[in-house]
Amino acid sequence: GLRIGVLALQGDFREHLRAVEAAGAAGVGIRRPSELDGLDGLIIPGGESTAIDKLARAFELAGPLKDRIRDGLPVYGSCAGMILLADEIADPATDLAGHPQQTFGGLDITVRRNAFGRQRESFETDLDFKGLDFSATESGVAPVHAVFIRGPWVERVGDGVEILAQVEPADPEHASHAATLPGTARIVAVRSGHLLATSFHPEVTGEKRVHELFIRMIRGDA
Ligand code: GLN
Repeated sequence: GLRIGVLALQGDFREHLRAVEAAGAAGVGIRRPSELDGLDGLIIPGGESTAIDKLARAFELAGPLKDRIRDGLPVYGSCAGMILLADEIADPATDLAGHPQQTFGGLDITVRRNAFGRQRESFETDLDFKGLDFSATESGVAPVHAVFIRGPWVERVGDGVEILAQVEPADPEHASHAATLPGTARIVAVRSGHLLATSFHPEVTGEKRVHELFIRMIRGDA
């Protein structure tokens, strides 16, 4: 079977380990560079991107991880994990010395942190999510129930980055966040080659299909 690592420095890595097992793969918590060996894929969990960045550098994981991403290791990042996969942060946090937070990068996108604004820092909505049609029935694909917890959105996608899901402000069902989403849909899930990222947390709702999609990406079936 597949071995999928979950970066276990900070954040909700336990939920991802459970989701990986529920989707039929073996989950392994990753804290040391040597633990990156022999993985079929890696998940960067939700949490606090600045903390994960700092810990990854302190544990000397950041460099080896960047190398693996460049060499084609399939990686899925949720929320803080999306930020850490992004090549660019629109509004990076700075530490006390004034250094901006860093990312592992690899995904040619620009993200904005905590993007949905104070009133809508956390919310739930149903999303149409491209690529989940493997489970399609005649009645269609059930939407993904997405939980956002101070999540980022994607402000720019580079060439070759596919948009998989967006929050649509025009939908009357989502009227409550129209105020913070003037005029335009917000990109909340993307894929580029072996890299997948979501602004939300499928690992907290029992939604298995995003992890299953990642597993199909690893297998080369998606
Ligand atoms: N706001 C967090 C960050 O910038 C992400 C929140 C999350 O992962 N739920 O890292």
